[in-house]
Amino acid sequence: MESCDCYDTQGHQDELLVRYQYISDVLIAVAYFSIPLELIYFVQKSAFFPYRWVLMQFGAFIILCGATHFINLWMFFLHSKAVAVVMTIAKVSCAIVSCATALMLVHIIPDLLSVKTRELFLKRKADELDREMGLILTQEETGRHVRMLTHEIRSTLDRHTILRTTLVELGRTLDLEGCALWMPSKSGLNLQLSHTLNYKIQVGTSVPISLPTVNELFNSAHVMYIPHTCPLAKIGPLVGRYTPPVSDWSDLSGKGYAVMVLILPADGARKWRDHELELVEVVADQVAVALSHAAILEESMHARDQLMEQNFALDKARQEAEMAVHARNDFLAVMNHEMRTPMHAIISLSSLLLETELSPEQRVMIETILKSSNLVATLISDVLDLSRLEDGSLVLENEPFDLQGVFEEVITLIKPIASVKKLSTNLILSADLPAYAVGDEKRLMQTILNIVGNAVKFTREGYISILASILKPETLREWQTPEFYPVPSDSHFYLCVQVKDTGCGIHPQDITYLFTKFVQPRRGSHRNQAGAGLGLALCKRFAGQMGGHTWIESEGVEKGCTASFIVRLGVCNAPTHSIADKSKSSQGI
Ligand code: ADP
Repeated sequence: MESCDCYDTQGHQDELLVRYQYISDVLIAVAYFSIPLELIYFVQKSAFFPYRWVLMQFGAFIILCGATHFINLWMFFLHSKAVAVVMTIAKVSCAIVSCATALMLVHIIPDLLSVKTRELFLKRKADELDREMGLILTQEETGRHVRMLTHEIRSTLDRHTILRTTLVELGRTLDLEGCALWMPSKSGLNLQLSHTLNYKIQVGTSVPISLPTVNELFNSAHVMYIPHTCPLAKIGPLVGRYTPPVSDWSDLSGKGYAVMVLILPADGARKWRDHELELVEVVADQVAVALSHAAILEESMHARDQLMEQNFALDKARQEAEMAVHARNDFLAVMNHEMRTPMHAIISLSSLLLETELSPEQRVMIETILKSSNLVATLISDVLDLSRLEDGSLVLENEPFDLQGVFEEVITLIKPIASVKKLSTNLILSADLPAYAVGDEKRLMQTILNIVGNAVKFTREGYISILASILKPETLREWQTPEFYPVPSDSHFYLCVQVKDTGCGIHPQDITYLFTKFVQPRRGSHRNQAGAGLGLALCKRFAGQMGGHTWIESEGVEKGCTASFIVRLGVCNAPTHSIADKSKSSQGI
């Protein structure tokens, strides 16, 4: 019988396969059992674990899968029916649990995915927050730089220092390669390089203002990039090595402006960042403010210089005026003493001569000398009074005097001349006129005499009437004019004197000129009698000094006229007999 070992070889190979499967099943079962153990361990350890029961279910599924593999170990050998039943139960259980798990996963997976989406959303939010945080930090840093720069820029009010500091500080803070300031030239047609920092062109270089880039700059309120080919960024042979410069223009107090060109380092690695551009804008605004302050300071310094010059000129003018016043005072002193004394001598000697025996021709001549001397003496005293009034050196007296006596005195003085001219004189003193008053008797008499003297002088026939009254306190308002503002009081009263005549009258148009010194009317029949034109000017000033005013009314030439004045006099409370004695002694009675 031929022996064959084929079956043996076949059997040996099957046995080997079975053994491998056996070992694999052992390992699979171990792995299956270890997974739920690990799950149980981590679920126990974790504080929060969603879908805990699903994991339990998953664990059961794996254990059952492992169990099927484990039971399989017995299937490789002859096995009993009991093993087959156990195997069947295990497989059925595994099938049920795995199907349930599969169905469960259909519900759970969307949840898991939404958890994932939420997780992604949160992650994105966290990134955004990080970015915002970074932005805030950058802004803080920019703010710090701006504060620092502003402090440096504002620490001076000199225009040149402000611009220089701006360039130096910006160059340092932004680590710039170059920095330049262009300003409009005087003609306004060019932009001139006024300040520069590491810039390769010379201060004073100019570019035309009509350049399209410059135009674009004027229309933009913000910083902007300009091409490196632009003449504002002109840097000779190095063109192209620079990153595009940023420039900015600021309105300087609405009048001027400046273009600032900033250039980044030449390596090209750096680009302008938003916060740097912001910083440049803020600094430009601050520079504009600082420059407008500097301009105001410059203007006020200029104004101060001008004021000083004016003060100097005024001082000089004052000194000259003082010298003129001195000269005039000297002249007045001479007039007063050196001219009055001989004048009085001429008058007294002429009067004495008239008392002697003279031929008719001699008498006429002496009378003419006397008349002319009187005129000159009056003129000298008028000029003296007027100049004293004008320089304020004339101080009015304020003494009690016999008021009614003043009018009687005037009539006594004027009557002889009036009777020569056959003019009747009439004095009316109102019943309420106080007998005594306080004031400057001499100046009051002078004023009345001037006015009455004019009335006599300019009247050929008729009468001269003098009316003296006091203004009633209740009628004061009616007398009010722009230059005369009477105020009622118990301590004073207003005396009104009106001198009416039937003389040559005055043309209404001439009335306004009468009170101007050295001016006489051009019309009128008595021009030859006119004097120097000082009498009414003096009366006006005396009345003004005495708190009143003067005026003239006339209905026209040859219709007579009324000259009036008002003065304020003090109410006299002193014993009247002492005043009467005093005035008698002053008149030499
Ligand atoms: P004068 O020395 O010339 O009289 P006044 O100042 O006293 O200077 O007077 C100025 C002018 O006013 C006189 O020249 C005269 O023309 C005119 N005038 C003044 N008073 C009268 C009057 N009562 N009647 C007419 N004209 C008068």
